Amino acid sequence: MTASFGSDCSYRLYDRALKSLVGGVNSPVRADPRPTPAFVDHGDGAHVVDVDDNRYLDYIMGYGPLLLGHDLPDRVREAITKAVADGPMYGIPTDIEIELAEFVIDHVESVDRLRFVNSGTEATAAAVRLARGYTGRDKIVVMQGGYHGGHESFLVEGTAADRKPSSAGVPKPFADETIPVPFNDETAVREAFERHGSDIAAVLTEPLLGNHGIVHPVEGYHESLRNLCDDYGSLLIFDEVITGFRVGGLECAQGKYDIEPDLTTFAKIIGGGFPVGAIGGRAGIMQAFTPTGEVFESGTFNGHPVTMAAGLETLRFAKKHDVYTHVNELGERIRAGLQDIVEDHAPEYTVAGTDSMFKVLFTRSGSEATTDNCTAGCKQQLDCPRFERCPKTGADVETGETDRWKRTFWPAMAERDVLLTPNQFESQFISYAHTAADIDRTLETYQRVLSQSG
Ligand code: PLP
Repeated sequence: MTASFGSDCSYRLYDRALKSLVGGVNSPVRADPRPTPAFVDHGDGAHVVDVDDNRYLDYIMGYGPLLLGHDLPDRVREAITKAVADGPMYGIPTDIEIELAEFVIDHVESVDRLRFVNSGTEATAAAVRLARGYTGRDKIVVMQGGYHGGHESFLVEGTAADRKPSSAGVPKPFADETIPVPFNDETAVREAFERHGSDIAAVLTEPLLGNHGIVHPVEGYHESLRNLCDDYGSLLIFDEVITGFRVGGLECAQGKYDIEPDLTTFAKIIGGGFPVGAIGGRAGIMQAFTPTGEVFESGTFNGHPVTMAAGLETLRFAKKHDVYTHVNELGERIRAGLQDIVEDHAPEYTVAGTDSMFKVLFTRSGSEATTDNCTAGCKQQLDCPRFERCPKTGADVETGETDRWKRTFWPAMAERDVLLTPNQFESQFISYAHTAADIDRTLETYQRVLSQSG
């Protein structure tokens, strides 16, 4: 063991932070595992270095935005620096907003108009408002275990028949308008449409559950959502906040899975590490936003020039270089290696992921262990030998051993310098800065830690 996660200086900063920041942090997941998070001093390629000089191989990667790692290529850095020096912002349009919009439109088939906002939450909230305004209906269908940010309409838990707000402070009427159904369950979504079809403005789903698993779509599921939305005059919204410009490369997950949503939400990678969100779709729907339409959307920082420069140059860099080939090959390498390790040391567990996302799910659901190597991250094929074994819904993942993850596994990995997302359900991300040697070292660490009991 080399690192001592969250040691002296981190502890002192945490004590100090508790006196000025709620719970010592600005987002609750950063407070895990208690009693203290490590405080970061700086990033370095695929690593972060904390204030106690511990160096970690980072698979959090900002929760997804850092496709290129912590060191930005010169061109990206120069564009950001220039935007800062020029402004940094005006509240008046700039050409860089058009350039980033054109880049997205050129690569994502379903998008021909965009609105930039400042976070994934803002994007999903605005997309749902747009769908409601466009259709004149109030209800939305969401997936149990799906995550769309901290907005009232999405802080709802339960089932279609019995649902309630999942956070204090959310009025009950929001839960009346949000219908959660199990992911990959075509029957459940069909029943929701049969019951409420003429009131459903939209189905909002991540193409794969990226915050709760990872759970892949089963073959035909997206198509059934598309058909139901068409039949009932509802909109299909893909939340590509995580998957956008990561899964499926520049065409995003909708390109990989060959499905055309009516609206798409983006964030994370399109801001190159700066706060961003965006809603995209066909002009006929998007024009319902103000100023051309009646659905209000506005923001002081929308289309912020620094963010636009960072996002545009990140995506241009990814297009020009072997970024997606590199991160996807490393994704394949780590999933294959993890599959072998899991079979030897924890055959009940499941390796999930696709492209540059991966996760070992501590789940014992559907546990008839097989020895085949499944790293495809495909649509789950009905004839796949692992079909029964892979989680299908958010609930399947929840049966996992979250206690082992939190109490022993995650800290043991961090103490050996491998930094995973503290939450058992959130994906790990590989960046362009990771190397094959990093992956191999990570696999050795997984092997050592997973082979320990408990
Ligand atoms: N949608 C998805 C799929 C996400 O993963 C997230 C955040 O992780 C959000 C929406 C919310 O984005 P933000 O945290 O930028 O508000």
